[in-house]
Amino acid sequence: MNKPLIGIPGNILRGLDETYGLPISYTPQGFIDGIQAAKGVPFIFPISTPDDASYYVDQIDGLLLVGGQDISPLLSGEEPHLKLESTEPARDAFEIALIKETIAQHKPIFAVCRGMQLLNVMYGGTLYQDVSDYKELTVQHIQQTHFTKGSHTIVLDLKSQLGQVFGDSYVVNSYHHQAIKELAEPFKAVAWSKDNLIEGFESTDPEQRIVAVQWHPELMLKEDIKMQRLFTDFVKRASIAY
Ligand code: MN
Repeated sequence: MNKPLIGIPGNILRGLDETYGLPISYTPQGFIDGIQAAKGVPFIFPISTPDDASYYVDQIDGLLLVGGQDISPLLSGEEPHLKLESTEPARDAFEIALIKETIAQHKPIFAVCRGMQLLNVMYGGTLYQDVSDYKELTVQHIQQTHFTKGSHTIVLDLKSQLGQVFGDSYVVNSYHHQAIKELAEPFKAVAWSKDNLIEGFESTDPEQRIVAVQWHPELMLKEDIKMQRLFTDFVKRASIAY
């Protein structure tokens, strides 16, 4: 059986002592581990010009969007909030081009944290640039507990793909200071924190096969088989051509 090839747009790291400050293209290892354990072949893309997106997407069977910098508020017509953290506009632009091309080629997408927020923004949704702007905020979304452990509850729609994995309630980790405000049209929310922030969404059009989560399953999958299942289900979706 052929193993699906999973494209992972990488990030750039600057100013690391070990590399004498030279910039390094990378992706966090947990995503590689999750795809390999799911019998997929991970393929990291360096940040590139949006014009090259189709060259990458032509090669892959699915796109995995990972965490990192804040989304540039200019993409949703907003000025930077005082609590905005670092952004990488070249990464935003390249990933937006990859998403468009992946959808055009009817290939599935699994999005984590920043990836989920970027999908929302590029389809016209909005973000809380910092969760402190959310008036109903009562849950800590940047946990102080170790990253392999869940820290807050989510409630899920049992009919959704995420609901089928996690049931109607589960405990996940949480490392986001941004959050979804208004959800874009092509998506339906399927998981919420107890203070009602969106923690997961899926495409309303089943042909698009998009699943997005706000937490970090790649940091929990060694200890929690359900977190690994997100990667296994995604690689399975990628093995089915539409
Ligand atoms: Mn959270």
